[in-house]
Amino acid sequence: MLYIGCHLPSSKGYLSMGRHAVSLDANTFAFFTRNPRGGSAKKINSSDVESFLKLYEKHKFGTLVAHAPYTMNLCSSNPSIREFGRNMLADDMQRMEYTPGHYYNFHPGSHVGQGVQTGIEQISDALNDILTPTQTTTVLLEGMAGKGSEIGSTFEELKAILDRVELKEKMGICLDTCHLWEAGYNIVNNLEGVLEEFDRIVGIEYLKAMHLNDSKNPIGAHKDRHEKIGEGYIGTDALIKIINHPILKKLPFILETPNDDDGYANEISLMRNNYTEW
Ligand code: FE
Ligand code: FE
Ligand code: ZN
Repeated sequence: MLYIGCHLPSSKGYLSMGRHAVSLDANTFAFFTRNPRGGSAKKINSSDVESFLKLYEKHKFGTLVAHAPYTMNLCSSNPSIREFGRNMLADDMQRMEYTPGHYYNFHPGSHVGQGVQTGIEQISDALNDILTPTQTTTVLLEGMAGKGSEIGSTFEELKAILDRVELKEKMGICLDTCHLWEAGYNIVNNLEGVLEEFDRIVGIEYLKAMHLNDSKNPIGAHKDRHEKIGEGYIGTDALIKIINHPILKKLPFILETPNDDDGYANEISLMRNNYTEW
């Protein structure tokens, strides 16, 4: 079964997202836990969650991949921004428990001149202070394109963060095809090699989810510009190989392409039509 979906607006609650997903033939999705460019969060309505979980069971959805707000930077050079990020992460871990057992993806952060090592330490310190042994959510570090001072555009940096986290069983990685490509990993001509390198450096068991995007830029551009499937430098064929790769094909795939609902429905259908069951 191919688990595929896209980012859905979360402002109308969980049931609304579930219905929206079903209407697109999606069986997983991503959503922002709070305003992605601010940080304010709406109170969660338990009966809305309950109705959603029924729909979730009925439609046999796969694991959801929530996304932290873009304003969360656990390694900002500004201590009050770091603190703001930590508070959001702690609150999001509680919010995620309304829907137990899903994924929460976040951008490791930008060190803004402090240096990669300091950034890695601040990110892992925050995770060590906030993650708890009883949480059911797995927190995913997203691999980045390497724009500006972003941390996590190399497997080595992702591994360095994981190495410092105590509750490793609560951690995983989400790889984004646009970010991989723009970070310089050749998933078009050497997917096997990239996955082997990930396994050697991080460990393939940490790979929990994929963001499925084309890229507006050539390999190694470090710009992070997503494109619709087939309209960028990665191309449809390479993305179809990715969803069918034996190591990847069981993971949830989230489209973050610049689309409206029709565009997402078309991309979901394209991928379903080109997916080979086991
Ligand atoms: Fe992201
Ligand atoms: Fe992404
Ligand atoms: Zn991106």
